[in-house]
Amino acid sequence: MIQLRNIQKSFGNQPVLKGIDLTVKKGEVVSILGPSGSGKTTLLRCINFLERPTEGEVMIDDITVSSQKGSKKEILTLRKKTAMVFQQYNLFRHKTVIENVMEGLIVVQKNSKETARKLAMEVLEKVGLTEKANAYPVQLSGGQQQRVGIARALALNPEVILLDEPTSALDPELVGEVLEVIKRIAEEGITMIIVTHEVSFAKDVSDYIVFMDQGEIVEEGTPTVIFNNPKEERTKRFFKRIN
Ligand code: ADP
Repeated sequence: MIQLRNIQKSFGNQPVLKGIDLTVKKGEVVSILGPSGSGKTTLLRCINFLERPTEGEVMIDDITVSSQKGSKKEILTLRKKTAMVFQQYNLFRHKTVIENVMEGLIVVQKNSKETARKLAMEVLEKVGLTEKANAYPVQLSGGQQQRVGIARALALNPEVILLDEPTSALDPELVGEVLEVIKRIAEEGITMIIVTHEVSFAKDVSDYIVFMDQGEIVEEGTPTVIFNNPKEERTKRFFKRIN
């Protein structure tokens, strides 16, 4: 289980997160929606302390890290419970697909090369890329590269996968294959928190929706409630505008 308590973040004197509380249960898929600049990505990056919150604490599983007191060691422990899928894939360009997936398994999780290779092939199978195992990122489409990004996260078997707008860098015709892979993983019961602009995907895949605006959670609930019966004016306006 994941719990965020009173997460605040300022850049200089600009408050970007104004006290976020959120609980995510094991196996749940939570999508964070909201206008550009509302703090969605920053919130996601605060969960694994890629951004250190100005205030508040993050609990994942058996560890709680506080914004102020969190030591390097605690942050590392917290980070090992997460894996992130980035907008721009962030693959190592000089490594093959399988080497990209093996990297964390060897360096972070200290698996043998042999074990790492076996685990990497298993996850490449899940994202439908076994035949590209020895290709280099540059030889792949954006959609395939992002599927490697997802395989890499999945291989680490984290408590939670954090996905930061995983399809926003892709050409429209490549979005579907990536969403399909994410959906398949979601169905396996892996906890995921997804920042996305893909509203119909979020509706389809999520157990829970969080709607943010101006650094706050304006409204949260099941997709049925948030999409069909939002209470807050800002939520209604947002969905009206994008429909
Ligand atoms: P969203 O993901 O909802 O589009 P972001 O979390 O990316 O929103 O950004 C929220 C606000 O924080 C924006 O005004 C953005 O300019 C600002 N911001 C984000 N990252 C930084 C940073 N590293 N330094 C300064 N300002 C930042």
